[in-house]
Amino acid sequence: MKQPVSLPRLINDIVDSPISPLVDKAQEADRKAIAYTCSFVPEPLLNVEGLFGVRVRAPGVSGTPMADTYLSNVICSTVRSILEFVLEGTFSSINGWVFTASCDHMRRLYDNLDYLEHPDFIHILDVPHKRSEAAVQWMREELSMLAEKLADKFNVVTDDAALSRAIDAHNEYLALMRDISDLRKRDHPPLTGAMFQALIAAASSSPTDLIIPHLRVFYETARNAPGIDDYRARLLMAGSHCDDPHYIRVIESTGALVVGDRTCTGSIPALAPIDDEGDPLTVLARRSLSNISCPRMMEEFDTRVEEIIAAAKEFRVDGVVLETMKFCDTWGVEASPMINALRKAKIPVLRLEREYSLGSEGQLQTRVQAFMESMGK
Ligand code: SF4
Repeated sequence: MKQPVSLPRLINDIVDSPISPLVDKAQEADRKAIAYTCSFVPEPLLNVEGLFGVRVRAPGVSGTPMADTYLSNVICSTVRSILEFVLEGTFSSINGWVFTASCDHMRRLYDNLDYLEHPDFIHILDVPHKRSEAAVQWMREELSMLAEKLADKFNVVTDDAALSRAIDAHNEYLALMRDISDLRKRDHPPLTGAMFQALIAAASSSPTDLIIPHLRVFYETARNAPGIDDYRARLLMAGSHCDDPHYIRVIESTGALVVGDRTCTGSIPALAPIDDEGDPLTVLARRSLSNISCPRMMEEFDTRVEEIIAAAKEFRVDGVVLETMKFCDTWGVEASPMINALRKAKIPVLRLEREYSLGSEGQLQTRVQAFMESMGK
């Protein structure tokens, strides 16, 4: 497939590095890096003045021998890979950690990291499984406790005005990424799905204010570039954790073009604007709980199906790739009914079960090629 634009070198460097060079730059300015691992953590709360949030990844992890000593063999490889990097000391420059009890696997990551590393700052948010008003108030309380703890530990201000400024700044990032995402709706999008995932991965693992200028440069180039016109099929990715652009690159090496993503680390619904009216902690609580792309929000199955169908129409895809992490319980339960529901809506689906690190590239290509042939592409 011909690619009319390429990514700025800095983005590629960040994608292949466990710690973004922009993290070092922000820390030199005496800002503290707060790591998180799950989409239920509302980023603006970690982005108040003096702090910045960093979604940690484990690019290039080649094995998990140390993490395997502490984790049971049915823990997903996302958690296993991040713990391996922690034990190797890769994240030693991180100033604090915020987790969510989003699933038992993430909970084990929190327990082990706390027990083995005793970080100076570590906190876990208890996230409700529902979206009712009572759940929003519960989540607000959780965020309020975290805001207080961050303020005490790092001597930063987390009052309403500081949170409103952080929400406004995050909305600027979200608007820019939506503009880039919208380019993928064109008949001939100028960027690949692997490129888009690289931008998301680089942005979420860097201080937002420092990455925005680089994203803007890319957007200006891409929006005036010619589109990709030799792809075979348009695909939507749905499913669990997928922060590795190289995985999408292998899928796209078959001639498929991934034009939308509704994964835990993707753009739908994560790029929706944050409401900036009212009490900021309630706004952030509501925002966290609107993130229903994760099947841990068990009562939202029908809404998830409807949203995937709507995204499939909006991005005019030929089929959906449902990628799920091996041993992920939540997706393990949901995948089959999800596939049935999508097929009932006449949307072809390919299920791919995967490990965190890329392997068996040939097998992956064969599966995607067979899927496209089954759709007559
Ligand atoms: S991939 Fe599944 S099991 Fe692993 S952290 Fe995400 S939700 Fe939990």
